[in-house]
Amino acid sequence: MHHEIQKMREVALVYLDRSGGLQKFVHDCRKYNDSKQSYAVYRFIISINPSDIAELDATLGNYILHNPIQAAQIFQSVCFIAIKTLSLIEQLQTEAQISILLKPTHLPSLPSYVMSFSAFPFDYTSQRFYMSEGIAIAMGTVTKYTQGARFLCTEETCPFSEGFRYIRVHLPGATESATVRNDFVCSMCSSALQEDVKFRVLGDELANKMKIGNHYKIIGIPACVQNGLQATACIEVNSVQLCKPIGPSFVSDNFKHLLSLTSGSCWRFTAILANIFASEVVPPGTYNTLKLAILLSLVQTCEKENADYLDLLIMTSDTLVIDRLLNYSICLLPRGIRHPPSSEIFPSVSKDKHGSGSATIQACSAVLAQGGICYIGDLSSYKKDKLELLQSVIESRTTTVFIPGKKYGEEADHQVTISVQTNFWSFVDVDSASKKHIQRNNFLIGQMDTSLIPSNLLDVFGLLIYNEFPSCQLSSPLVHHILKKAIKPEAMLYKVSQQFRMQDYEEASPHSVYHQILYFHLTSVMKTPCNREIVTSCSVTMNC
Ligand SMILES: [Zn+2]
Repeated sequence: MHHEIQKMREVALVYLDRSGGLQKFVHDCRKYNDSKQSYAVYRFIISINPSDIAELDATLGNYILHNPIQAAQIFQSVCFIAIKTLSLIEQLQTEAQISILLKPTHLPSLPSYVMSFSAFPFDYTSQRFYMSEGIAIAMGTVTKYTQGARFLCTEETCPFSEGFRYIRVHLPGATESATVRNDFVCSMCSSALQEDVKFRVLGDELANKMKIGNHYKIIGIPACVQNGLQATACIEVNSVQLCKPIGPSFVSDNFKHLLSLTSGSCWRFTAILANIFASEVVPPGTYNTLKLAILLSLVQTCEKENADYLDLLIMTSDTLVIDRLLNYSICLLPRGIRHPPSSEIFPSVSKDKHGSGSATIQACSAVLAQGGICYIGDLSSYKKDKLELLQSVIESRTTTVFIPGKKYGEEADHQVTISVQTNFWSFVDVDSASKKHIQRNNFLIGQMDTSLIPSNLLDVFGLLIYNEFPSCQLSSPLVHHILKKAIKPEAMLYKVSQQFRMQDYEEASPHSVYHQILYFHLTSVMKTPCNREIVTSCSVTMNC
């Protein structure tokens, strides 16, 4: 075994040299050396490409994948020898003071490397690397942990009352009390050990790399943490990668065919798409304006900060059909969320379920729908405070959660601001709204019944669709509000529109506009997983 270990150390050094890891290591050492500060442990992150290392030496490659904690010790020895031979860190005294974190770039894409928390039995004892992928749906407050600590013997005459004989290092899955406690004893004289606190090294590095609502791929070592009677399965993560959604990279033949058939007209393709869209739930040819708006909103979805959003508000008396249409449409996206009325739309704070009692922020519907659509149902079913919050989120695309320190066992209160990157869809039942209207009977003609939906909330929605359906009764206060806003002489929109002359329209390149619409629709087509037969079933001869 010793011979094998020695050989793996040699290969590890060759790998570090070839992969550029040695250069980075020397650079990290220089930073420690220049700081002149003495630490209990010196921590190094070593990036490992499992394929490369397995090609170089299968034994070491296998050892890293299946015994990562022991494999880290191989690199620990190599690094210690390097530091001593090249005098890289003057302050460093013992090998135990080196802490190595192996960071795999990826794992073999085989089922046995994927961690499933629902699979039984859950393997948390093997201490090997697993990968897992998913969305961050909640986050705790970040607490630092002890990466390494120095302990000294309390008996002054004992040789271990100085030096770096007792170094405690955090291992994957270990709780804080496993790393630092006050009941350790000296192996030489059995006196109590005491921590030399000024040497303690704290860490929290990966927690800050993750944001609630994002999609990540993680690689780490599973562990089971006992907390009183409760056991919690978790993964101690070595590497975190943000996953960018990749849509289908092709446009289906049906759509290409339709595009070629309609190339003679700038509008036909768009009109046909809107006309036949969602024909599984509404008859083709109905609700075309709304369906066009839905398509535009769908293609405006992306996971990008400061993206353009198209929020939809639909005034309707036909709530059953509209609800069905919107539910159908959100299913076309990987992140289309139908908000359940019993829960919160925006992030909320609750106590950690695993016994620590610390604060946990839950993502809730709007953040889970990041880069997609959050369909919140009937707007008039929400209370005033919820509507005010909705308005402020749509305006700022952020929301702030407040964490009272007292309640969650922390010294100070603090607040966390979370970005909300989603398109909101909602509708208002005009019938029930007008019924409430009659009952109240205390508004002036031409004024919105603001207790139902505040007019400034209406204004923040990018698109309001109204009265497309014959059954929909005119609600005069609403129409008055919108029309008044559009023709108000002091309003910016009015001023700009007054400056438009025929020439402006002539100078605008129609082609760029049309191309944009086509692009919109093609993007939508690419994002649509179930575009199958809808083109073949449409009438291409429609008059548009
Ligand atoms: Zn002692």
